[in-house]
Amino acid sequence: MFDKIAIIGLGLIGSSIAHAARRGKLAKEIAGHDASADVLERAGVVGFCDTLHADIGDAVEGGELVILCTPVGAYRTIAEQIQQHLEEGAILSDVGSVKGAVIRDVTPSVPLDVHFIPAHPIAGTEFSGPEAGFATLFDGRWTILTPVPNSDPAAVEKLKSFWQGLGSQVDVMDASHHDLVLAITSHLPHLIAYNIVGTARDLEEVTEGEVIKYSASGFRDFTRIASSDPTMWRDVFLNNRAAVLEVLSRFNDDLRVLQKAVEDGDGQVLFDTFTRGRAIRRAIIEIGQDTSAPNFGRNKS
Ligand code: NAP
Repeated sequence: MFDKIAIIGLGLIGSSIAHAARRGKLAKEIAGHDASADVLERAGVVGFCDTLHADIGDAVEGGELVILCTPVGAYRTIAEQIQQHLEEGAILSDVGSVKGAVIRDVTPSVPLDVHFIPAHPIAGTEFSGPEAGFATLFDGRWTILTPVPNSDPAAVEKLKSFWQGLGSQVDVMDASHHDLVLAITSHLPHLIAYNIVGTARDLEEVTEGEVIKYSASGFRDFTRIASSDPTMWRDVFLNNRAAVLEVLSRFNDDLRVLQKAVEDGDGQVLFDTFTRGRAIRRAIIEIGQDTSAPNFGRNKS
């Protein structure tokens, strides 16, 4: 599909794209760059790129598809660094978890003859780094493309085929809609997880080990989300503030309703809310976005 693709940022998502592109034979050459010499060396040991470059310009030069896979806070600087190295007709894309701010930061540096098409794969794990990636990460998951108003339809189609080749299903939507949807499905759950784990950590001094010891009762599932990369998540909240604040306000309203139901002993409100929660879980399983196995398929509780 491409003679050369360049991946900037060789962590979980960058390395997974490389593994999956190899599996799908989507590029003759996969070039990789990371700002960290240590990450470059470790990427070389795992071996998912054909060429590795300490110089970002060398990685991008000749690339028909260039994908930014670093935390989104680095995008503006990277876009400035690569602009004179981008080939005429190349597609410049990314994987950032927010899209409006990415368009704001990257667009000023995109040459007129380059197709900038932002993207976000809704797939990941709580692990980071070049060893964390794997070829099947995107299989059956969704990737959202958020083309900018003058995006070339043929380039959008080509990027769509690329993501399908990586195993993903693809949707196209407006960046602001993406940011609102992801604020509720991804960003708010991470904020809640970081918050509940922080509260429990403070209580831990009171309970002396019991929060950790009895974590399988529910707390443990929050700790998985709360172990995600702090840099990446700091950048998400700094760059999707309006949408996060909107859904957070709604969340606080709903939490107050539950708080009042507990105070008033209103079992009906609690029962109805919990019943709706169960239905959402069933719907996620029905569309194949999670396993129906008890306890997420863990064989021990
Ligand atoms: P990651 O595993 O931490 O990898 C990011 C890599 O980028 C690291 O190796 C980092 O090096 C490197 N980097 C940082 N600044 C750089 C720069 N200026 N130039 C070149 N390389 C740089 O993170 P990730 O989970 O793959 O996330 C990458 C992107 O994917 C983020 O934008 C995130 O929003 C998006 N995303 C993540 C997930 C997820 O579940 N993790 C899912 C979908 C989308 P250092 O470690 O040395 O800083």
